[in-house]
Amino acid sequence: MGLLDRQFNNSNVIITSMENLLNWARLSSLWQMQFGLACCAIEMMAAAASNYDFDRFGVIPRATPRQSDVMIVAGTVTLKMASRIKRLYDQMSEPRYVVSMGSCSNCGGPYWEHGYHVLKGVDRVIPVDVYVPGCPPRPEALMEGIIKLQEKIRRESLVKKSA
Ligand code: SF4
Repeated sequence: MGLLDRQFNNSNVIITSMENLLNWARLSSLWQMQFGLACCAIEMMAAAASNYDFDRFGVIPRATPRQSDVMIVAGTVTLKMASRIKRLYDQMSEPRYVVSMGSCSNCGGPYWEHGYHVLKGVDRVIPVDVYVPGCPPRPEALMEGIIKLQEKIRRESLVKKSA
């Protein structure tokens, strides 16, 4: 039994660390960079629609990288778009996260061998936190990817460790 047990009259008091509280707030309000690249983006839009209701995870689309926490790369990353994606990622403020959605974004997908115009994985230009497999992944798969990202954020340390 701890020293603080039964010291508060209000039964709704929760004791936690500031780090847990901040991580909980961050993982519960993942604002998503609003853009899509190809067919996977249709599934991403379906995830945001009423049937799947991404909003309940706190994932809300934002039309500017400066107010976005997570970039969901949904679709084929052509070489032409790769530099744009890199620029958008650079404009996002820290901490920022990337979910790679679908085979095209993960590794080039159906274009991995003969698609001379397609980047063989978006992780060649920006770091990826979670990969969602499939061609295309269903909205449920994207949801699982977001939950994985939330688990990662929950474990993050906000204190910079000295080298
Ligand atoms: S992974 Fe499949 S569904 Fe997604 S963008 Fe590529 S070809 Fe389209």
